[in-house]
Amino acid sequence: MRQFDCDLHIHGLYSGGTSNNMVVPTLSKQAKLKGLHVLVSGDILHKDWLEHLRKHLVEEDGCFKEEENNVYFILGGEINDINNVHHIFFLPDFNSAYELREKLQKFAKLDGQGFGRPTLNTNAENIAQLVIDSGGIIGPAHAFTPYYSVFSHFNSIKDCYGSMAEEIHFIELGLSADSYFADLIEENQERAFLTCSDAHSPWPYRLGREFTRIEMKKPCFSELKKVLEHEKERIKLNVGLDPREGKYHCTACNRCYTKYSVESAIKLNWRCPRCKGTIKKGVRDRILELAKFHSEIHPEFRPEYLHIIPLAEIIKLALGVENINSQAVQSTWQELVSVFGSEIAVLVDVPIVEIADINELVAKKIESFRKKRVLYIAGGGGKYGEPIICDSEEEFELKKLELKDVLECRSSFKGQKTLNEF
Ligand SMILES: [Zn+2]
Ligand SMILES: [Zn+2]
Ligand SMILES: [Zn+2]
Repeated sequence: MRQFDCDLHIHGLYSGGTSNNMVVPTLSKQAKLKGLHVLVSGDILHKDWLEHLRKHLVEEDGCFKEEENNVYFILGGEINDINNVHHIFFLPDFNSAYELREKLQKFAKLDGQGFGRPTLNTNAENIAQLVIDSGGIIGPAHAFTPYYSVFSHFNSIKDCYGSMAEEIHFIELGLSADSYFADLIEENQERAFLTCSDAHSPWPYRLGREFTRIEMKKPCFSELKKVLEHEKERIKLNVGLDPREGKYHCTACNRCYTKYSVESAIKLNWRCPRCKGTIKKGVRDRILELAKFHSEIHPEFRPEYLHIIPLAEIIKLALGVENINSQAVQSTWQELVSVFGSEIAVLVDVPIVEIADINELVAKKIESFRKKRVLYIAGGGGKYGEPIICDSEEEFELKKLELKDVLECRSSFKGQKTLNEF
């Protein structure tokens, strides 16, 4: 058995807001540079995307492969239901995709530009039944985000999926949560966690910014299903952003990004007094509301969660430039990846001295990142959080003090005094 690094939530070029570069040849090439072995096809219910996939993928022993870059694809996609909850699902083959398309036609427009992720005029229970009847598996996408997620609209998986809840074997965590937060909710402990990028563009600071390392005999649907349903210990690693980097981690205004405590947001009726924007409840506060446990506790099969920062982001910080797409960042990225084989190798495995031979500043930042000398200005209200990688232990301690008001989700709203301030 081999371990595969898998990104199981992405979108093709027919989804809304995606890059025209979201096509199989580019995706496979970028996946290889990132170090990913398996991608989801995404948008499998869309007629034109289905044809595109059939043209570029070769079927081999139940697996679908892009041959030029040796990248595997598992067929799947994302659906929005009548309650605005998103689900991701996986299917065994193209026949089951056509079969499911037939069944879902009556609930939604499935084709045309912007319909890669269709909105179905039916609920989660029905959708889960139809996907499973077609041989597939399904679970909630980015389960905690304040828009379009199971826990933003329901208090439990059971409330959302009804009689199908027992058939839900996995949860996609999304960028604003990690295993620590997700396992605070008791019912999540029975389920596998998937960490995926939800990428809308193929560049490696998006594609694979979160991924799951899974042990499989071969990288195909039947193995994935077996792992998620019965052999969860074969999920070897969840990898993703620190939840504080997620754009909905803290409770904050969606216009001026001022952070609030839930108590003050309730008093203010979720209206920001500074700019009249709407205050959005953060993932952290939503999870703490539903939490049964109040300290770290995991089921035995749960793997480690490795917090990672995309390499281009680290290079940007090391070189002190503003733009991640600048020539300086891109050429350094390309050099490192071509020498060491993939982004994941550079971030996780290659010895620092070898990276230093190519670029000392970047080597230093990667070393600090591996030693966990990273602070985060927590995100919220739709604004991504920001990592600060400190070059030494002293700098780390100093910055921690200096920035204590913007790290974590501390409310920055000073309109109401807390008890301690009187
Ligand atoms: Zn979604
Ligand atoms: Zn998506
Ligand atoms: Zn505001």
